[in-house]
Amino acid sequence: MIKPIAERVQKAMLQTDAISVVKGIGEKTEKGLNKLGIVTVQDMLEYYPKAYDIYGKLMNIDEIVEGEMALFVGYLYMNVETKRVRHLTIASCRVKDATGSIGLTWFNMPYIKNTLKSGSYYIFRGKAQRKNGVLVIEQPKILTKEEYYNKKDVLQPIYPLTNGITNHLLSKTVQTILEEVDLTGDFLPSAIRSEHGLADYRFAVKQIHFPKDKENMIKARRRIVFNEFFMFTLALTYMKEEKNKRLKRVPYETVKQTDQLLNSLPYELTNAQKRAWEEIKRDMCTGLVMNRLVQGDVGSGKTVLAALALALNAENGYQGTLMVPTEVLAKQHMESLSELYAPFGIGCILLTGSMTAKEKRIAYEKIQRNEVSVIIGTHALIQESVTYGNLGLVITDEQHRFGVKQREVLSQKGENPHVLVMSATPIPRTLAIILYGDLDISVVDELPANRLPIKNCVVNTEYRTTAYHFIEKQVQEGRQAYVICPMVEESETMEAENVIAYTQKIQEALPPCIRVEYLHGKMKAKEKNEIMEQFARNEIHVLVSTTVIEVGVNVPNATVMMIENAERFGLAQLHQLRGRVGRGKYQSYCILVSGSRSKETKKRLEILNTSNDGFYIAGEDLKLRGPGDLFGIRQSGEMEFKLADIYNDATVLKEANETAKNMTIKEIQQLCSKNERFRKQLENYLGTIL
Ligand code: ADP
Ligand code: MG
Repeated sequence: MIKPIAERVQKAMLQTDAISVVKGIGEKTEKGLNKLGIVTVQDMLEYYPKAYDIYGKLMNIDEIVEGEMALFVGYLYMNVETKRVRHLTIASCRVKDATGSIGLTWFNMPYIKNTLKSGSYYIFRGKAQRKNGVLVIEQPKILTKEEYYNKKDVLQPIYPLTNGITNHLLSKTVQTILEEVDLTGDFLPSAIRSEHGLADYRFAVKQIHFPKDKENMIKARRRIVFNEFFMFTLALTYMKEEKNKRLKRVPYETVKQTDQLLNSLPYELTNAQKRAWEEIKRDMCTGLVMNRLVQGDVGSGKTVLAALALALNAENGYQGTLMVPTEVLAKQHMESLSELYAPFGIGCILLTGSMTAKEKRIAYEKIQRNEVSVIIGTHALIQESVTYGNLGLVITDEQHRFGVKQREVLSQKGENPHVLVMSATPIPRTLAIILYGDLDISVVDELPANRLPIKNCVVNTEYRTTAYHFIEKQVQEGRQAYVICPMVEESETMEAENVIAYTQKIQEALPPCIRVEYLHGKMKAKEKNEIMEQFARNEIHVLVSTTVIEVGVNVPNATVMMIENAERFGLAQLHQLRGRVGRGKYQSYCILVSGSRSKETKKRLEILNTSNDGFYIAGEDLKLRGPGDLFGIRQSGEMEFKLADIYNDATVLKEANETAKNMTIKEIQQLCSKNERFRKQLENYLGTIL
């Protein structure tokens, strides 16, 4: 219940309060924040900056460099001109100093005309770009002298944004919260803090958002990273203990049908697949509960292992589930498994969020009555309304897209079901042992023999026409292509527009008999599925997409992956994207188009250019970023940490893990019962199973 305002003002804001208690946050803003995952005050505090902005020294106009931030005093020697181009108002002018001059443009800010007066000096700041061969600055900030000196040398947070949510709003909201919320009384026991030299929580939260200097930021960061790793490994410790209590299960006895199924495959398993399959089979047939991770690079053939495990489970009279992160992937698995299982009479069913209420109800009934043995779906599989008849095995594919919590909820849908998780994240073994501490690990470190290594190239935007011709030739030979569109982080709507415009452009460059379609995050699941199905049937030849295509999708006939703005992606993500091709017997190609001329970008992309090995790439990426590179690109979607980076922060991870491992279940429970905030933190990883 929401209390009357007057009463609230007296009291401190609570971390558990809805974000709307913060002054100035109305319904619309709240919705926007929710989209970023910010629901409570605490969520906002844990919405960490992705980087920091620093206003440095003023420069001369002739020192401005393309692609970099410019900050300078300019003399406005003309009036600002405005013109309209379709629905855009463009204001532009030129400013100069003793060393040169530069053009400035603002979009949809017609009032600039009245703000800036000819014959005056202003301080401008913005990124320099080359347009039609000359340097310009779009949307530069205009600063007064005071504003500049106030901001100079201060680290200012840069947050990931979405539609309608500005950096200014986020930064102001955090500031307000920090003034009103009570963060005293650290929930991390002081013994642990002093042993590891960790900063106090209140200090850490303040300094991570608004660091006084780099040193404080590093201290703050270390505390929060430790915190995340500690709670995570503590959750694993807890789960492992719980699992040890329920180790036993009736061994599976028959394997005949599954062996037949194995022999019916159109290919022979690779040695690595055989090894992993033997390990899985052994787990399931020896009377212990399986808790296993299958780790294998993209395209190493993990799906067939899941298919075999589910078949063995079915043959022994149990139900099994396969949970995947996207509808597209669920649909795809459903199709390939149904086909594989058809001759053996193993029944499959799909369960996803986009199904109608009626479709879901029918599925629920079939599942509960044990009429199907294999259930494939998304998060919908762990909804409360689903009751399983006789769950013997749960599998999560692309585990790095899920939390430990979701995996655990799924397994609690049955009585000690076998657990199998699959991941393509190339984590070194030493880290995998920690991060998947409650699981045994099978590694699939070999690609099927029929594969030709993907041919790569890194090119600049002038190469586009050549690339389109190449795609045309491939399509004429019967193959297909993906084109990944530039990312527009700020807004999904803009991103969608971008994809649509790009699709038109590429369609115009190709003969009309080549069918080009698009896929983006704003489309309904049904539409996405339809497009994917048509692409899988080769009715669509070129698929223009955002990164929604990234995980798991398998269309072996596709041979070209062209990635625009490759410099904006993390290497791990590029590797995943590239993994969509090279999945069949045809020679495949990856074209990385980069708009940047910076040396570092070249070096980074060169790593991908020369290797197709996920482990090698992750390692080289780390070396290049260097352990101290906190301002660099954060790899998105790497496990479930908000700030911590498993590669960069590996030493802290090991430290936190040692501490967590040494705690007993009893100690954990005691801490939770007398320390509410500690329990809340742990629940982030464990759910309410404590
Ligand atoms: P991932 O490990 O990325 O999930 P998939 O399981 O989707 O990879 O497999 C990629 C492709 O390789 C699929 O088309 C699959 O049928 C095929 N495949 C899997 N194992 C083999 C094998 N041993 N020999 C040949 N092709 C295989
Ligand atoms: Mg897969």
